[in-house]
Parts: sequence; structure tokens; C-alpha cells
Amino acid sequence: MVFLLMQLIVEGGLVKMKIYCCLEHTELALDVAVDESELAPIFEKIDEPTKEHRCQYCDKEALYTVEN
Ligand SMILES: [Zn+2]
Repeated sequence: MVFLLMQLIVEGGLVKMKIYCCLEHTELALDVAVDESELAPIFEKIDEPTKEHRCQYCDKEALYTVEN
């Protein structure tokens, strides 16, 4: 389920991942991002959270994004 919701963007052969998460699940999202890429992920706060983006793990409003 979690993996189905994961947003995978393929750019020039590089697989980029963007995870939306709430405050509670930032740690989990960072762990997943590090496991996937073995690189330090980019962690950002969403300035204006919208109802459009939900936490991938609990379906609350997403407050942060984790990218790599
Ligand atoms: Zn959550």
C-alpha cells in the first residue's frame, strides 16, 4: 500500500522519490528515503499545506516533503 502511494518520477534515468508526510511520520519517511537512495534526502516543510497532499502513512494533511 505504502509503495503504491509513493510518487516515483523518472528523470533522465534517475529515479526520484517524493514522499509527503505529516509531522509524526517524518522520521519514517526519512528512513525510507535513505534506504531507497543511500543519499541524504532533501527534507522540506510545506509552506502552505493543502488538502491535496496527504501523509502516505496515516492520511493526515501532509506538512513535509522528503525528496531524493
Ligand atoms: Zn502521518
